[in-house]
Amino acid sequence: MGNFKSVYPYTQETIAEYAAHTPQEVEKKLALGDAIFRQLGQVSLQQRCDWMMQVAALLKEQANEHATIITREMGKTLKEAKAEVLKCAVSAEYYAQHIAGMLQPKPVPSDAGNSYEANNSYIAYQPKGIILAIMPWNYPYWQVFRFAIPNLLAGNTGVLKHASNVSGCALAIERLFLEAGFPEGAFQALLLSSKDIEPIIADDRVQGVTLTGSTPAGKNVGQLAGKYIKKSVLELGGSDPFVVLKDADLDAAAAVAVKGRMQNAGQSCIAAKRWIVENAVAADFTHKVTALVQQLHQGDPFAEANQMGPMARPDLAEELDKQLQQSLQQGATLLAGGKYEGCNFAPTLLAGVRPGMAAFDEETFGPLGTIITAKDEQEAIALANHPSFGLGAALWTRDLEKAKQLASRIESGSVFINELMHSDPHLPFGGIKQSGYGRELASEGAHEFLNIKTIYLK
Ligand code: NAP
Repeated sequence: MGNFKSVYPYTQETIAEYAAHTPQEVEKKLALGDAIFRQLGQVSLQQRCDWMMQVAALLKEQANEHATIITREMGKTLKEAKAEVLKCAVSAEYYAQHIAGMLQPKPVPSDAGNSYEANNSYIAYQPKGIILAIMPWNYPYWQVFRFAIPNLLAGNTGVLKHASNVSGCALAIERLFLEAGFPEGAFQALLLSSKDIEPIIADDRVQGVTLTGSTPAGKNVGQLAGKYIKKSVLELGGSDPFVVLKDADLDAAAAVAVKGRMQNAGQSCIAAKRWIVENAVAADFTHKVTALVQQLHQGDPFAEANQMGPMARPDLAEELDKQLQQSLQQGATLLAGGKYEGCNFAPTLLAGVRPGMAAFDEETFGPLGTIITAKDEQEAIALANHPSFGLGAALWTRDLEKAKQLASRIESGSVFINELMHSDPHLPFGGIKQSGYGRELASEGAHEFLNIKTIYLK
């Protein structure tokens, strides 16, 4: 079983160690999660919404404390960590205000009766039991809350297997739900290694599994979910295109490209990972983004002057450097950065990137901007459609009619036109291809782990 270590990435100092839960402790937690699931069914939806509003209030009141835990464990700047905590609060409020409509039974005319008014057949949305969430360290609060909020409101209970480097975040989130009023057992952290996950997925009390993480982790969890016939949602990696056409507002596009790629030290699933620029504006765009990347300060994540902290672990920095060196050998040109020490990776920019290079073909998970040129918009869209990934995409043009047409040809779970790719609780979020399946957020996300039950009256 072993221990989990939390290490402050900026200095590599060990800040805490946590013992893994024993099989007996895990059994107790699953029994409690199941018992509380049955009790939650007796609690009114209004009560669960009140608890969730209290979750939002606590997140706001304690934003600094929670942000500090995040920054210490995974290294993003304190400012970014606070924004993440507040985003969780806003989503808790959003769902507390809208979940009743999402769970409202939906009348459907059928051979039971042919009018909506008659209500002879309808769809009911009902909770199923314990849902297991396997979550990553990159947004260690947001990824957890976007699963937990709609599920706890709908009456499911949650167990969380968080990434091994953010156990402090997992335990702080567990305490927060308790403090907000949810009964003990509604949301529980399991300190477990990924190799010990199979018995949890296999357990009859666990009704589904959601994973946010890398494609290899998705393959394993998807296989286990299939083996035990459990509903699964997989939110996996991406290599999102950021397409800049020749009629785009170049200043805005350059600023958003750099923000979209460099925020969170580049460790975001929907980062603008491949900047695909029409030849006619490539020189101008390159000039603008180079200047912006060179102005970024990377360093101590608690220092206000720094826009970027360290990467979360040294092995992640090593992996990014390997992809960078390979791409340089394959013919890319270095325009900025290119150096790292420990977890501290300088904001880096590559030009001349093409398919066949590591920086194009693989997901790069760190502060690496890449410029890929296209002779026209047709080629830009062809390059945007990655053979393996399809999470998000951005498209920059002043012609909104053309943008809508091109958006329908981009193979991804979302397309943001003239805006930073981001998640928003009002809108479904998820991918296609090896970026995964299923959706989180909005009512589509809220329904993933519910029993969509047909009721037929004659
Ligand atoms: P990761 O190594 O796949 O880990 C994610 C979670 O899965 C962790 O809890 C990890 O536990 C667990 N895990 C790892 N291998 C597993 C396996 N074989 N079976 C079961 N569980 C396993 O990913 P990461 O490095 O933390 O996060 C970065 C990746 O997540 C990137 O690819 C990124 O694009 C993706 N991501 C996707 C989204 C999205 O919404 N689509 C959002 C954020 C991140 P341990 O820590 O114990 O190994």
